Amino acid sequence: MTALTDLTIKQALDGLNNGDFTSVELTNVHLDAIESAKELNAFVTNTPEQALEQAKASDTKRANGEVGVLEGIPIGMKDLFCTEGVQTTASSKILEGFTPQYTSTVAQNMFDQGAVMLGKTNLDEFAMGSSNMTSAFGNVINPWKRNNDNKDIVPGGSSGGSAAGVAARIMMGATGTDTGGSIRQPASFCGITGIKPTYGRCSRWGVIAFSSSLDQPGPFARTVEDNAIMLQAMAGFDKKDSTSVNRDVPNYMSAMTGDIRGLKVGIPKEYRVDGMPEEIESLWQQGIAWMKDAGAEIVDISLPHTKYALPTYYIIAPAECSSNLARYDGVRYGMRVNDGGNLDDMYEATRAAGFGDEVKRRIMIGTYVLSAGHYDAYYNKARRVRKQIWNDFNQAYKKCDVILTPTAPSAAFAMDDDMNDPIKMYLNDVFTVPASLAGMPGISIPAGLDKDGLPLGLQILGRPFDEETVFRTAGVLEEAANFTAVPQLIVQKAA
Ligand code: GLN
Repeated sequence: MTALTDLTIKQALDGLNNGDFTSVELTNVHLDAIESAKELNAFVTNTPEQALEQAKASDTKRANGEVGVLEGIPIGMKDLFCTEGVQTTASSKILEGFTPQYTSTVAQNMFDQGAVMLGKTNLDEFAMGSSNMTSAFGNVINPWKRNNDNKDIVPGGSSGGSAAGVAARIMMGATGTDTGGSIRQPASFCGITGIKPTYGRCSRWGVIAFSSSLDQPGPFARTVEDNAIMLQAMAGFDKKDSTSVNRDVPNYMSAMTGDIRGLKVGIPKEYRVDGMPEEIESLWQQGIAWMKDAGAEIVDISLPHTKYALPTYYIIAPAECSSNLARYDGVRYGMRVNDGGNLDDMYEATRAAGFGDEVKRRIMIGTYVLSAGHYDAYYNKARRVRKQIWNDFNQAYKKCDVILTPTAPSAAFAMDDDMNDPIKMYLNDVFTVPASLAGMPGISIPAGLDKDGLPLGLQILGRPFDEETVFRTAGVLEEAANFTAVPQLIVQKAA
């Protein structure tokens, strides 16, 4: 029999429905798995007691015939989503000990649909990063390793704890947020699937803000279908978020018809970047062949402003973060360092001690680009370029229905690879950032392994609010890729 931790969410829902096991059993198995995979550091806070309470309540609900979309399913919650009564840190020292008095809309939607929260997952501090190495609570380790090499590998970021946890089978699904790639890139690095929905599809209310015009919650899981189930529970209009869009949530679970005959798949020539490893280019070609075999039509498209996406993102995101993070002043939330001086001294001492280097770097960049003398030259210009990038996609979607690209320009890197250069780290977002700036949906599917045995993802982008076509295409790609490799951590445990 398949271990309960190996089941997909869909299989687990069927098993719960058939009475093969209870949510309490399913939850206990995952709590044990978490104990045995502590070295991954996937969690900032574990909530086993609450999880078992939720599981018990879910079993009772099910017995009474009340069955939500995620009824009884154990999941991880990125520690950026506020959860009433449970510490929420954004992986920053400045919020250590902060216990919200409310629950974010997305988390609440999931709880209403029966989700069981195993704990709060680790992330890059305030979701700024691509490796999970900026967390104040230690880096997360990817359950994958290179063949013949025992070096620790990064899980990607910023949602590294969620991605590593789902890959390591210590949670069945997890929440993430994607500002410039933080769902898609870690999904690619960890050999799982994750979707960034259209901006406005999932409420940002109660999600600690990084860059408000870009942040978008979304799910991770091991299959496309499980992502559809997760998103079904998470999505929806929320009047508490003024950028939430009031549109019905379609049935994502039935979107995967397996039929993409006649679908037009765009291939943007600008995504062929210098220095991209040959194996990523060939995986991309393989993806194109899979789409063709399934009856799709391949069309060449151009997204001419792609090369400006990274610099634009690294102006807009820091600008918004410098404004959003102004609230951490030692008065209202979390940490306060009082060195006996005046109020300004207290602000300075608190922020100096509370924020890590990457967060400080971005606050400084953001403050600079928003300052009176530079606002037009940087921030306003970036906003205009962003509009052009959005326009590129709109033009492209006149010729195609979805766009196929690699998710990231490399496989996951090792902790001690040369990563001290922030610019090099920023380059990792080259394929994910454009759709973020345009607010459009994108999914990453594990599609192959690199020469060292690490997973590589392919990305499918879609039109705004057309997650259904994204899921439909992803389902076909998933079947063609037939990615069955599992992380070394799982292989070792089974041995
Ligand atoms: N890696 C990108 C950054 O550092 C994206 C992060 C994110 O999507 N939250 O900003």
